[in-house]
This record gives sequence, C-alpha cells and structure tokens, in this order.
Amino acid sequence: MSSPSAPVATPGSRILLRATKFDGAAHWIQPFTVVSDDGQLLVTQYKARTPIYSSRGEFRSPYDSLVYFWRDRWYNVFRLSRPGCELALWYCNVTTPPTFDGCQLSYVDLDLDVAVRPNGCVDLLDADEFAVHQQKYGYPQSVIARAEEAAEEVSALARANGFPFNKG
Ligand SMILES: [Mg+2]
Repeated sequence: MSSPSAPVATPGSRILLRATKFDGAAHWIQPFTVVSDDGQLLVTQYKARTPIYSSRGEFRSPYDSLVYFWRDRWYNVFRLSRPGCELALWYCNVTTPPTFDGCQLSYVDLDLDVAVRPNGCVDLLDADEFAVHQQKYGYPQSVIARAEEAAEEVSALARANGFPFNKG
C-alpha cells in the first residue's frame, strides 16, 4: 500500500523520469505521458524521437515505449516497438524502487538490465558494469543482493509469460 499522501499521476499528464547513478549524477532524463496509475503501478508512454538526455549525450529513441513502473519493485519494464510495428523488445532496468513527487519520477539505476525478445530469449546485460560500479560507488551489500534478486525476478516473470510480458 502506498501512503495516503503519495501523489498519484493523472492519465494524460506529462511527467519526467530522472534516473541517477548511485552518487546522484543524472544518468537518464526522459519525458513520458501517463497512461494510468493505481498508486502502485504507474504506466507511461514515450513517443519515438522525443529527445532524451542521457549521460552519454542527447538521445532520440527510434522506439515508441510503453513503460511499467511499480513503486515497490527493483526493476521497471519498457515495451519497445517501432512506430506502426509489432513488439521489438522488452527492456528491463534494475533500479531502486521509484518515487514520484507529482511531476518527477526518480530512481537510482543499478546497471543490470534484462532484455526479453519476442521469441522468448531472455538475456542479462551489463553484469560487467554492475561489477565495476559496486567498487566505484561502494554499493552496500544489501543493494547488491536486491539488484541481483530483481534481475532474477524479472527474468523469471518473463519466462513465465507473466504480466506485462503477456501483453504482447
Ligand atoms: Mg544498464
């Protein structure tokens, strides 16, 4: 249950995702339109080619995205598709649970990603970066363990074809 004072996003409103690395440095800033929010699961969409700020420079994704953010989970799920085309890829980011202040969604990116292809292949990505950043940022042991669990959880969910992976 979210607390009574926790803001819930209004469908159709614009919000900004601001993901940082563990030291607070901006990592990824992406605008979204809210699809739905029940206080637990926030669903947003992103239109292909809208500018995104990333720590590697401005970026315009060629994919339309439908994105699932659960306030109590250590991962999110991006459903990526080229405009007018079928599903291209599910891209899952391991992060701290997101917080939403009414306009901005925030979390710490924890490097690990899980890619799920339409044929069902599930791949863990960026384990090398996760290992490097454990040292660089001094991740607490509890964060390391939770991030590894989250990667396993979302992989298992995808293999079981659970929501949202059952939404095609
Ligand atoms: Mg990553």
